[in-house]
Amino acid sequence: MYLASPTVIKNIAAKYGFTFKKGLGQNFLTSKEILERIAESAEIEYGAIEIGPGFGVLTDELAERAEKVVALEIDERLIPVLKDTMSDHDNIKVINADVMKTDMAKLIEEEFGEKPVSIAANLPYYITTPIITMLLESRLPVKNIVVMVQKEVAERISAAPGSKDYGALTVMCRYFTRPELVCVVPASLFVPQPKVDSAVLRLRVLDKPSVEVSDEKLFFRTVKAAFSQRRKTLLNCLAANFPHGKAALTDILESLGIDPRRRGETLSIAEFAELSEKLR
Ligand code: SAM
Repeated sequence: MYLASPTVIKNIAAKYGFTFKKGLGQNFLTSKEILERIAESAEIEYGAIEIGPGFGVLTDELAERAEKVVALEIDERLIPVLKDTMSDHDNIKVINADVMKTDMAKLIEEEFGEKPVSIAANLPYYITTPIITMLLESRLPVKNIVVMVQKEVAERISAAPGSKDYGALTVMCRYFTRPELVCVVPASLFVPQPKVDSAVLRLRVLDKPSVEVSDEKLFFRTVKAAFSQRRKTLLNCLAANFPHGKAALTDILESLGIDPRRRGETLSIAEFAELSEKLR
């Protein structure tokens, strides 16, 4: 069934008496061109996992390119709709589940075994950062994670050190992946229309993290501490989050050639790695 059109989306909603829930981030994409770009960017070899299929606009494109698609949808009202809209395909499994309550590593093992898997999603915006964080921290055996997010979030993730957008999420994405901005998507291409524009982001999962650290938890604790108070110096942020005392922290920073008066957002991922090694 051809779904990528505002009229078709509205007609399906009318047929099922479906009302869009803002609280679940239900803004459905209606551009065939962007849907194809998302699916192509996922570089699917065998399997695809989709988070939040909605009426199935992206699921349809994924099913054209994958041997098997597993789609997780939290809203049970969409399950019968998807049964109807996806009836042309026999390689889609829809699971009525909250992605944040799903053991993704187990799901991948059970559904795909050792076969290569990509993740693609037009993410619900109320929960973008927790979903990306969960997917990365779970260390899933996936090749690519392609997500549509708010334009500002995409800019933050692809930001360079020193810019106002650079933050803990950027460092986390750059630690586990190589982020790339695929394209910007105007709000007018969704039904219903959100208030902000969106962007497609591809996170290419690295074989090993981009910097070597001996204690990953401490590395992320250091990053979070450095960004805990944007207006404060790195020294003050660290002092508020670590027990070392300001004098010892100043010595550590100076031994690394890092001026304690710098702000957290000016540190490169390599500097964060060196700093966390010294905070052990
Ligand atoms: N894939 C469709 C598209 O591209 O038009 C719909 C995308 S819409 C932005 C987000 C979808 O995620 C909705 O269908 C919503 O019900 C679903 N969703 C929201 N929270 C979810 C969660 N925690 N787990 C799984 N799906 C969720």
